[in-house]
Amino acid sequence: MTVNQERPMTYSKMRGLVTFLSALLKGKKVGFSEFIHKHVSSQQLCQHLDTQKLLQRQSKLKRAKGGKATLNSVNTEASQIKPSDFDYLKVIGTGSFGKVLLARHRKQGAYYAVKVLQKQMIIKRKEQRHVMVERSVLVKGLQHPFLVGLHFSFQTPNTLYFVLDYVNGGELFYHLQREGSFPEPRAAFYSAEMAAALGYLHSLNIVYRDLKPENILLDSEGHVMLTDFGLCKEGVATGEIMHTICGTPEYLAPEVLQGHPYKPAVDWWGLGVVLFEMLCGLVSPPFYNHSKVQMFENILHAHLQLPSTLSEGACSVLKGLLERDISKRLGESRDIEELQEHPFFTFINWDDLVARKVKPPFIPNVSGPCDISYIDPEFTLQPVPTCVNERCQAASEAFPGFSFINPAEYMAVP
Ligand code: AMP
Repeated sequence: MTVNQERPMTYSKMRGLVTFLSALLKGKKVGFSEFIHKHVSSQQLCQHLDTQKLLQRQSKLKRAKGGKATLNSVNTEASQIKPSDFDYLKVIGTGSFGKVLLARHRKQGAYYAVKVLQKQMIIKRKEQRHVMVERSVLVKGLQHPFLVGLHFSFQTPNTLYFVLDYVNGGELFYHLQREGSFPEPRAAFYSAEMAAALGYLHSLNIVYRDLKPENILLDSEGHVMLTDFGLCKEGVATGEIMHTICGTPEYLAPEVLQGHPYKPAVDWWGLGVVLFEMLCGLVSPPFYNHSKVQMFENILHAHLQLPSTLSEGACSVLKGLLERDISKRLGESRDIEELQEHPFFTFINWDDLVARKVKPPFIPNVSGPCDISYIDPEFTLQPVPTCVNERCQAASEAFPGFSFINPAEYMAVP
């Protein structure tokens, strides 16, 4: 987090500062970390120059006393995190701009998935905005049991790094491929967890937009984890509209193909495609055709064919989600609430679900946090790219403000 401009300070923020200062002056025992925990959520306050100066002073004081580093060092140390803080063990995935690596933090010993993106590739494809969107969405402090969390982001002259939770139960579709299709209760469980995560994002005015197989992972306990926030659109309230066309062809909603403005309901279409594949098998995605032109045509006009083996509830939820007319699509008006009321999900206790109290229908057989048995050997057999040994110098101007350290993470660093 870099700070380079004065921001207006509101009365309540000023009061927070004054309270803190008074407590210091009175020699009260106000824990610094407690203060940070209380106020760190207010980015504006953290970025205000006065706060920064105060924190800097406090930091020096604490250091002089041999105390723990403070929020000020959250900022300075974010830019000091470097590739050599981690041991890179395996390639575990590839994205559009680079690789995802399993890495171990040398001091903490914790395992992470480190997404390594080549700046040149991003700049060449004029995709800086997507990458910064991903960063910005991840640092928003998203806290949801089914969304992958960001611990740090940092950069070197040629490379950007996202340090994420390592989710090692494998891609959901790795399991689907092995099993052909899932029984309805299992498909309902996964789609309910995805719906909970999407509903949470929508409540923050974020549209995920890119629900597709490789972004849906299972954690070691068998719960869903959504990753890759590169195509998210921020600041879109339900009812507002977006115009940018992006996404993977098979999963594109008709309104996106037509270049029409689209809304958060675009994610409910995506969920419909994924649910269809879970229930009917990956070999026959709805509207799929090897010719892209024909597939687009199918998405826009073809009749949705559902196997007769599906229950009434499953047919109805699929028809509701894969409804071309957005105004009639399930989830369009009251978002996730409409899904929660649907008969297909009647056996789901949504409170228990979000509390991760519902026992997953399948528990991946992983031995520990660094187990890679569910990762495709196509990735794990690849050599770890040499760019991670790049020396850390001044950061490039192309991605100002990229570096970040999650305050919670920071507190945990010994
Ligand atoms: P992405 O660039 O985010 O699309 O990631 C590319 C691939 O890397 C994904 O399809 C996953 O298989 C893998 N991957 C991404 N993030 C993680 C993570 N946090 N934990 C484990 N694997 C991941």
